[in-house]
Amino acid sequence: MAYELKMPQLGLTMEEGTVSKWVKKEGDAVKTGDVVVEITTDKLTNEVTSEVDGTMLKIVAQEGDDVPVKGTLAWIGKPGEAVPGTGGAAAPAVPFAPAAPAVPAKPVGDKKIIVVGGGPGGYVAAIRAAQLGAKVTVVEREHLGGTCLNIGCIPTKCLLHSAELISDIKEQGAEIGVKVKGVEVDFPQVIKHKNDISKQLTSGIAGLFKMNKVAKVDGEAKFVAPGKLSVKKSDGSTEEMTADAIIVATGSINAVPPIPGLKENPNCIDSTGALSLEKLPKSMVVIGAGVIGLELACAYAAFGTKITVVEALDHMLPMLDGDLTKIGVAHMKKMGMEFNLECPVQRVDASPVGAKVVCKNKEGKEIAFEAEKVLVAVGRRANTAMLDLDAGKLDNDRGRIKVNDKMETSVPGVYAIGDCVMGYAQLAHTASAMGEVAAENIMGIEAHYDQKTNPTCVYIEPEAASVGLTEEQCKEQGLAYKVGKFPMAANGKALILNGGEGVVKIIAGKEYGEILGMHIIGPRATDLIAEGALAIGEEMTLDELIATIHSHPTVTEAMREAALQAEKRAIHTSNK
Ligand code: NAD
Repeated sequence: MAYELKMPQLGLTMEEGTVSKWVKKEGDAVKTGDVVVEITTDKLTNEVTSEVDGTMLKIVAQEGDDVPVKGTLAWIGKPGEAVPGTGGAAAPAVPFAPAAPAVPAKPVGDKKIIVVGGGPGGYVAAIRAAQLGAKVTVVEREHLGGTCLNIGCIPTKCLLHSAELISDIKEQGAEIGVKVKGVEVDFPQVIKHKNDISKQLTSGIAGLFKMNKVAKVDGEAKFVAPGKLSVKKSDGSTEEMTADAIIVATGSINAVPPIPGLKENPNCIDSTGALSLEKLPKSMVVIGAGVIGLELACAYAAFGTKITVVEALDHMLPMLDGDLTKIGVAHMKKMGMEFNLECPVQRVDASPVGAKVVCKNKEGKEIAFEAEKVLVAVGRRANTAMLDLDAGKLDNDRGRIKVNDKMETSVPGVYAIGDCVMGYAQLAHTASAMGEVAAENIMGIEAHYDQKTNPTCVYIEPEAASVGLTEEQCKEQGLAYKVGKFPMAANGKALILNGGEGVVKIIAGKEYGEILGMHIIGPRATDLIAEGALAIGEEMTLDELIATIHSHPTVTEAMREAALQAEKRAIHTSNK
């Protein structure tokens, strides 16, 4: 049977390619590895090689044709061999629409939009819609900035920064020639600094609203009919509001698991409580080894709190590549944290210390952990209970609103973004990206949310970040891939910053070297991951990363070296 030459997937985000030049013509002899055709996407040009020896029997897609990934380009086989398809002819290539034009920054319309919620999803959507000419009102019942700026990302990172400074001085200080006597944590000041940063950032949003003429109503909104809201304002009045479009951006709240004795015990706190303690606890049991649990555990462990983590599953941080989790967990153990996996919590008992967390271990035996505080970090759920989704007729799954990739809900004119929607990561940058997509679609500019370039950042010690596919996912999907790794210990800057702990791991397609995933643990990982997101978004290959000069001395050099290692040409590490 003739060999079907297909349009390759040259990048994780590639959907189609254009045949720019046929190197072999019909009737030409073709050898395995011969370049047969050149393909361009809107981002790169690549040569496609043959995987068989034979003769070019039939060229299906002509020069200039757009062909979807896996669409037929040509048939190669023995001279005279029939080509599959009707009458011996292969199926024609499916033409694709041209790429969308650049999205304008200038006004394109004058619609009225209500945004419910002023977090990183809502405020970004509001500003983008206003830029495009919309008259925007944001309804917010509490603070601008939402969870992220007030009780989530930013406050946690403030605590982690104080913690990192303490650890650096204690662990590295003497070695690098910085001797400090009597280093201590001034915990109330840690909390004050966090509050100051939050305040500065949230007042910045108020300023941005003024600049973009976005109106703000202090109040809580709920649906009274599809596309119609009732807003209970902070002055006690109620107003019915409608608009050309509504964007729901109400975020998420901490889940409270039905663990007996938990609600009754004031020493059981959630992440909000852990970000505003008045006194540093001597001990803390963390229920849940997810991102929230481990980030706060790292901060408190560095401040000197004895941390015990209990987790129901047999693994932690499933969103990270396994190699990263191993390094992260080893470091956290070194910090003195204790991990108990496959140890679901059964109940919380009263204790003179604070609380006693009773779990069932692998062997089915009860084990208990006592601590001054218990941090409950078992996930977050959509904050939509007060919205009356039924009155609004919004399709949802246990409160998480169903949307398509244009952020449209089941009701025309109503959009939803961020943590309150179903099926996407609950991350601030995800919400912001969705906010821009919703605003643009409302204003008549077609936009789609694309998960593939969405990075995950975990602020444990050392930082970890991932974008694209993990090695585990490549295996599950049966992809042919190659891996390049570069240890931070071989990078000068990383060695200076944290003693060289960590690794950069790049996963690329085996044949074309397209970047499929990038995974980093080590200093600056959460900043470095932007290069991986860009590489995936722009369908870059290992060659293109390698061809880019990375500045020295920086941790970014480790990214290029990992790409080199994938091609067995690393300079500063082994290529085995
Ligand atoms: P999570 O779902 O990531 O982790 C919760 C963990 O608790 C799970 O591993 C689960 O198995 C465990 N668990 C549940 N019930 C348990 C029980 N009874 N006993 C023991 N273990 C139990 O949730 P999270 O850490 O609370 O985070 C919530 C959301 O917030 C996530 O979507 C996360 O991505 C987001 N977030 C992101 C960042 C970041 O990007 N840096 C930071 C904070 C939060």
